[in-house]
Amino acid sequence: MKYPKGGNNVKAGIIGLGNMGGRMVKRLLEQGVKVGVFDLNKDLVRKFVEMGAEETKSPAALAKKFPYILTVLPNVFIVKETLMGTEGLMEGMNSESLLIEMTTSIPSVTKELNALLKEKGLKMIDAPVSGGVKKAEDGTLSIMVGGETVDFDRAKPLLECLGAHIFHVGEAGAGHTIKALNNMISATTLAATGEAMALGVKLGLDPEKMLDVINASTGRSFSSEFKFPNQVLTRKFEVGFTLDLMVKDLKIAMAMAEEEKVPMFISSASFQLWKHAWSQGRGDQDHTAVIKDIEEMFSIEIKGS
Ligand code: NAD
Repeated sequence: MKYPKGGNNVKAGIIGLGNMGGRMVKRLLEQGVKVGVFDLNKDLVRKFVEMGAEETKSPAALAKKFPYILTVLPNVFIVKETLMGTEGLMEGMNSESLLIEMTTSIPSVTKELNALLKEKGLKMIDAPVSGGVKKAEDGTLSIMVGGETVDFDRAKPLLECLGAHIFHVGEAGAGHTIKALNNMISATTLAATGEAMALGVKLGLDPEKMLDVINASTGRSFSSEFKFPNQVLTRKFEVGFTLDLMVKDLKIAMAMAEEEKVPMFISSASFQLWKHAWSQGRGDQDHTAVIKDIEEMFSIEIKGS
């Protein structure tokens, strides 16, 4: 599918060309969109310029030239700096600009940033994604949007180049809220499946047979259907989403619960396991390395034949 409203006239700038942002650049170029790029990592910038993207010298320069601005950055602190720092986006944005903030971020800060932009007559939506690098590559991500309907409607044709499931979930910050909650479930499911698989192996069961049973039964999940067969049993551990980023997401979810003064019994237990894996120096590794942490505690390995 090409961009529905005539790709070459559509200009989108992307800041953050890592695992997710880089694949989004490629995808938009394939759809005929004119793409501008900015990243501190100049090797990445060169790579996408060779594919047809245009290099910009700063976030401000990108914002001056590209009305759609997509930020796909590691965390909210970097987003704030990119927006409000020297030669930041705010210096280049105008009334035609729409900031599409796709970082997994903190909803309360997103609301503050949205209010700040609004005061200056500038517009943003939060539009974090789920599905990982494979779905970013295929343009089949889930995208969850917070913001005003008029801005959602304007961004939708562009977002449809990147995702197969586009949801408008509420006002500013709502996208970031559901994203953190989704990842809390995802992290907890992976951890719970890991413990069950490790115990099964310790009790002498074949992990492949266990997955056959679980995936035809009520214990199944994305973790058992995808992550275990493709990443754990094969010992690849390379989904393309770091353990550092998953811990960040869990911190966001826990802080949201704390703000609301509600307990999170199950998720807190899972969070401790993730923090343990992180404290063992696994932050840079793929998030599926949390299973290695469980394996060490059980003194077993969950591997295929
Ligand atoms: P990544 O670390 O691979 O990429 C981040 C990029 O941002 C890097 O290229 C880095 O050089 C760049 N960057 C850092 N600081 C910058 C700055 N000040 N200015 C410009 N560029 C800067 O991360 P990722 O895996 O692509 O994740 C990006 C966001 O998407 C995160 O918020 C993450 O939580 C979220 N996310 C990731 C996945 C996934 O599967 N990887 C899935 C869903 C959501």
